[in-house]
Amino acid sequence: MPDPRRGIPRTDQVLADPRLREAVDRLGARLVKGAVVAAQQRCRGGEIEPAAVADAAVASLPAGATTLRRVVNATGVVVHTNLGRAPLSRAAVDAVRTAAGATDVELDLITGRRGRRGRGALEALAAPVPDAGAVHVGNNGAAALALVTRVLARGGRSVVIARGELVEIGDGFRIPELLESVGARLREVGTTNRVRLSDYAAAVDSDTAFVLKVHPSNFTVSGFTSSVSVRELTELGLPVVVDIGSGLLTPHPRLPNEPDATTVLRAGADLVTASGDKLLGGPQAGLLLGEADLVERLRRDPFARALRVDKLTLAALEATLTGPTPPVPAALSSRPDDLRPRARMICSALPPGIEPEVVDSEGVVGGGGAPDVVLPSVAIALPECLAGPLRGGEPPVVGRLERGRLLLDLLAVTPDDDGDLVAAVRRTAGDAAGHEER
Ligand SMILES: *Cc1c(COP(=O)(O)O)cnc(C)c1O
Repeated sequence: MPDPRRGIPRTDQVLADPRLREAVDRLGARLVKGAVVAAQQRCRGGEIEPAAVADAAVASLPAGATTLRRVVNATGVVVHTNLGRAPLSRAAVDAVRTAAGATDVELDLITGRRGRRGRGALEALAAPVPDAGAVHVGNNGAAALALVTRVLARGGRSVVIARGELVEIGDGFRIPELLESVGARLREVGTTNRVRLSDYAAAVDSDTAFVLKVHPSNFTVSGFTSSVSVRELTELGLPVVVDIGSGLLTPHPRLPNEPDATTVLRAGADLVTASGDKLLGGPQAGLLLGEADLVERLRRDPFARALRVDKLTLAALEATLTGPTPPVPAALSSRPDDLRPRARMICSALPPGIEPEVVDSEGVVGGGGAPDVVLPSVAIALPECLAGPLRGGEPPVVGRLERGRLLLDLLAVTPDDDGDLVAAVRRTAGDAAGHEER
């Protein structure tokens, strides 16, 4: 038996390859060594020749030093929770890069003294909502709600909430359990489908910290229903806190049932909480807007420090608010007539063997809210068998299976990604054809 290890180049020999030396600077020694060891393993198994080990290691190097990969979202779901919710605008990505190094996030460069942390982001958030006396930013929507509850209802004071608004957000996390976890006692009123102002009034007592209204952002209740408006709730004479969820700052014409911060504050709410990475289209963040004294109290509470956002979030949030329209709001206002020419271009660049076809499609908002809204869209239909290979491609493309076909829906695909989408499908289709011939 010949020794199978004979002829396998040593690790240090392979690492001397200039391409791998450069990769060590870019990705770090651990990742590059891992790629070399894997290539040596393939050589040992007789899969590749000793002379091909360096090439194989180079070919298997990851694009960056993270296991997270850029994915083309062709699902037709605009805010896809499993794909990281809102993709950032290019301006937000640039801002993140700027803030990544040493940055004046808490330093006034003119006076040389400590400056207000994240001033630019806070001003950018306050500007479109003049009805908010002050604003604050925390880690996410849940953090914003936890901060409000912890500060106002600490020590077992009660929070009054309608039974129909006891929402499970996702991944098993439930708003009522979140509230209890920071020390509040829940006082549930009404039934699943109906609640009246008199139900709230009967539940309120000297121990009530605030009345909470939570937007049912991921389901709808229809039929024999009633709820109490924010304006009516203010008649109870207690602070009214509204969790709008989605992060719309002003009304959106295509999402008439989605609450927004401006309207809710005008109706008399004292505080509004929302997410930054849903319909606003920014980074993960918890937005808090409302009455100035209350916001200041929240901001100065020790617990606020545990929910503080980092400089990257502040940078991305500011650029989301002041820069060009981010991908999520752009997708929400796109029309099939805008998408169809792109779909035709993509189709004409694909191999005819896979019979690509431009079809009408229906997208949804997704994890961002508006569960009852259909967003007319356009997709490219392909054979279902390409779904798996496309997910495993470079970049991975995630579509949607519908009636035995794979739909690549363009609603949430930014036009910048069209070229990569075409290249990924061509490669995958080529590989699939190659397998059939063999
Ligand atoms: C999404 C959502 C939350 C949670 O926000 P995160 O940013 O995911 O923490 C809370 N309340 C409502 C109504 C939501 O829609």
